[in-house]
Amino acid sequence: MLIYEKSREGRGCSLLPACDVPEYAFEEKDLREKPLRLPQVPEVELSRHYTELAHKAHGVNDGFYPLGSCTMKYNPRVNETAASLPGFTQIHPLQPLHTVQGALRVLREIEEALAAITGMARFTLQPAAGAHGEFTGLLLIKAYHLANGDTARTKIIVPDSAHGTNPASAVMAGMSVINVDSDEKGCVDVAKLRELCESEEGAQIAGLMLTNPNTAGLFDPNIREITDIIHACGGQVYYDGANLNAVMGVARPADMGFDCVHLNLHKTFSTPHGGGGPGAGPVGCKEHLAKFLPGLVVEAAGGELTFVKPAESFGEMKNFYGNFLVAVKALTYIKMLGAAGIAEASANAVLNANYMMAKLRDLYDIAFGTEVCMHEFVMDLSALLKETGVSAMDIAKGLLDHGIHPPTMYFPLTVHEALMVEPTETETKETLDEAIDVLRSLYQLAHDDPEYLHHAPHSTPVTRLDEVGAARHPVLKYAFEK
Ligand SMILES: *Cc1c(COP(=O)(O)O)cnc(C)c1O
Repeated sequence: MLIYEKSREGRGCSLLPACDVPEYAFEEKDLREKPLRLPQVPEVELSRHYTELAHKAHGVNDGFYPLGSCTMKYNPRVNETAASLPGFTQIHPLQPLHTVQGALRVLREIEEALAAITGMARFTLQPAAGAHGEFTGLLLIKAYHLANGDTARTKIIVPDSAHGTNPASAVMAGMSVINVDSDEKGCVDVAKLRELCESEEGAQIAGLMLTNPNTAGLFDPNIREITDIIHACGGQVYYDGANLNAVMGVARPADMGFDCVHLNLHKTFSTPHGGGGPGAGPVGCKEHLAKFLPGLVVEAAGGELTFVKPAESFGEMKNFYGNFLVAVKALTYIKMLGAAGIAEASANAVLNANYMMAKLRDLYDIAFGTEVCMHEFVMDLSALLKETGVSAMDIAKGLLDHGIHPPTMYFPLTVHEALMVEPTETETKETLDEAIDVLRSLYQLAHDDPEYLHHAPHSTPVTRLDEVGAARHPVLKYAFEK
C-alpha cells in the first residue's frame, strides 16, 4: 500500500515552528492554484509504513550482501555518531572561517589520509559520486593538456572490462572512447595497447582509464608497463579507484604510475551507499595536476586553516566543499582503523574472497581460470546453463530465498553468465560458510529441479519482476484518481 492510499483529509503529524523571518508575499501569478497533495497520515501510520517498507528490502543489516564491485561493506555505527555532532551539523558553508576551524581540519585531515593511502599530492572533495569523480578527473586531464597547448588530445582509452561509467564520463568530458580488448587472462592486452599508442593515433591520446584490480578481481601484473606506455605517448593515466578495497594500505595508485584517481567513500570508506547516500567521490592527483583542481582546497596560513582556489582551477564541480558529512564519516572510519587496520581490512577482504572462491571452484567455473583473486571473483555459469538450463539470473534469484542478496549479475560484460562475488572484510567465517553451502545446494538444485529455480524467488514479497518493463515504462509518480 502506498502512503497516499493511507492518507485521509485532515490527519497529519507535523508542527511547523513559528515563522521567525519576514513573510514574503508572492505575486498571485506565482502561487499554486491548488494546494500541494501531500499524504496526510498520523505519526504512528507513518512510522509503520516505513518500517513495513524496510522489512521488504534487503540491506547489509539484514544479511550477506556480496555485490561485486560495489563493496557493500558494513558501515560502523560510530561513523553516524561522529557525523551527527552539532559542531558538524549546525554550521553553514558561508560562516566566517575562524568559527569553523574544526570543519576545515576535517577536510584537511581526510585529504591527508586519502593522499597517504593513494600516494597522490592533493585531493578535491567536491565530487558527489564515483561517476562524478571520473568526470572531474577527466576534466583535470583535459585542463592539463590544454594548458600545454595540446589541443589534439581528445581520445581516451578504456578497456572492455571497465565499469560502464568510464566511457560515459569520457563522452561527457567531450572525449571519444577507444576500446582496448582484454587478454585471455582478463587483463589489459599490453601488445595491443603499445601498438595503439605507438601509432599515429598516439598524438591524439588524452589518456587511459583503468581499474586495478579490475572488475574481474584481478590485479594487472603489467601495470607499470601500461602506465609507462601511456606516458611515453604523452597521455595521462586515470585510476578508477571506486573500489579500493583490495589494495588500501597495501599498494598505492601513485606508485603504479597513475596521475589521478577517484575514490568512492561510499564503497571503500564505509559511508552509506545507494538509497542511504549521499555519496562522495573525491579526486586526487599528482603535483603536476594540482593547480587545475576544481573548487577550494584547505591550506594552513598564519596559524589558521583557510580555503584557497588552485591557481589554474578549471571551475566548480559542486557547490561549496562536497558532501561534508560523508567526509566526516569516512575520516571516522579511517581514524578508527588506523594505518595498520586499513591494511588489515584489505587483507581480510582478499582472504574472504579467496576462501569463497576456493570452496566453490570444484562446482562453479571461475572466469579466466583465476588462481588467486583480489577482493572479488567472477563465476562463469555458461557451462551450468548449457547443462541444466539454469542461468546466472536463476541462481541469483535462488539466493534470495536463503536471505542472501545476489552478487552482481552479468558483469563484467566480458564474461557471459557472470556472477561477481565480493564478500568484503567484515563477514565472519560462519557467514561465508553458510553462503558457500547455499551456492553449492543451488548447484545441485539446478540439476535436480531446474524448473523450481526458473521461478525463484518463492519467499520474497515480490517474485520475478519485469525489469525491462520497469526500465522502459517507469511509473515514477502516483496517479491520483481525481
Ligand atoms: C561503483 C563504481 C563506479 C561508479 O561509482 P558511483 O558512485 O556509483 O557513481 C565506477 N567505477 C567502478 C569500478 C565502480 O565499482
